[in-house]
Amino acid sequence: MEKEHPILANQALLHHNETQFAKSLVKLCPGVWTAVGFAASTQHMIEGENTVTVIDTSESTKAAENVLAEFRQVSSKPVGRIIYTHSHRDHISGASVFSEGREIPVLASAGFKSDLIGQDENAIAPHKALGRRTQAQFGIGLAPDQRVSLGCGPGDRPMEGMGAGHIPPNRLFDRDTEIDLDGIRARLIMAPGETADHMAVWLPDSQVLFPGDNWYHAFPNLYAIRGTPYRDFAAWADSLSLLEGLGASVLAPGHTMPVFGADSVREVLVTTRAAILHVMRHTADGMDAGLSVDDIAATVALPDSIADRPWLGEFYGKASWSARAFAAGTLGWYDGNPTHLGTLSTVARARHLAHLAGGSDALWRAAETTDDLQWRLEICDHLIALGEPAERMKAEAMERLADAEVNATARNTYLWDAARLKRKGIPE
Ligand SMILES: [Zn+2]
Repeated sequence: MEKEHPILANQALLHHNETQFAKSLVKLCPGVWTAVGFAASTQHMIEGENTVTVIDTSESTKAAENVLAEFRQVSSKPVGRIIYTHSHRDHISGASVFSEGREIPVLASAGFKSDLIGQDENAIAPHKALGRRTQAQFGIGLAPDQRVSLGCGPGDRPMEGMGAGHIPPNRLFDRDTEIDLDGIRARLIMAPGETADHMAVWLPDSQVLFPGDNWYHAFPNLYAIRGTPYRDFAAWADSLSLLEGLGASVLAPGHTMPVFGADSVREVLVTTRAAILHVMRHTADGMDAGLSVDDIAATVALPDSIADRPWLGEFYGKASWSARAFAAGTLGWYDGNPTHLGTLSTVARARHLAHLAGGSDALWRAAETTDDLQWRLEICDHLIALGEPAERMKAEAMERLADAEVNATARNTYLWDAARLKRKGIPE
């Protein structure tokens, strides 16, 4: 009988999950609401004269049904149009529930296209790797009480009808455009950031801003460990500047709770932009100085002036991963150290290390006695490469790292891969 890993988790991550994803329908101003905590993402409703507009639609038909039922508590008007802030699946997959079988306008950026790799199933791309890593990042298959958070949404949410309700957009916009949402003035704003196809929605009369995923209460996910192409850091920072310039008094993000008050909205946007610029500068300076990417990632930390802001907690994105992504996205994989022009296979390196240490027994002893869990993982990898049964030791080290980890996607990935290693031998 497999001993279950006990449920422990980072207290800040638990607090983030409890406060940012508490299931609630939040009134932003008369006639405008946000549904938080029903799905991985948030959904918004704007009431017009005879119809309502829905912004973003969740990742599943079940979550969309729950949200529509909430919206019906405050307005019985039919959904007249849907707006997608961007093409990530957790925002576009419940549309058919809101349209209720009618053909309605679905608005999006002309560049509407997910940044997920491997969209074309016939293209040569690591489809299986992306699938596996997505499952790991979101803890798919972990017990619901182990998956304490997604980082961007509650760990516990409906999974039925996942991806089943997407309607492709049928009204595309390639520039900022004033539109009428059944009597409510709105502006669609091209704002590339977490994806290149981001389109923010601004209501100038009520000063409510929907930034999509260009802001949420967590360190920005400049790189998703499931695997993403390079996200344009500079464009994201520019868009935060653009959005800050609107002077919104309510900010209703694509994940997490809305922010109220012009000063608070300005502060969260300005400091998040500063965080992105800091990672870019730290990484560029390190590369200019000839540092290794490991050393750049190991030393990146937000400046004291913004480090304590709760919304920059690394619940979703992470500064060290962002530094690696910026390095790879600007100059590519080569770090300027000619050592890395050649290649040692994993097993060749492990053999060299074992020889140096005095055999694999010495590696085992080092793994067992070190207090540095990261080092233990690395030694376990060498042992596994040598055919030694170090899977359980590696799994247990990952579980301990998960317990302390503030980042939900890292926590889920540690636990997901630990479970996989413990099951080793059982076909996937
Ligand atoms: Zn999202």
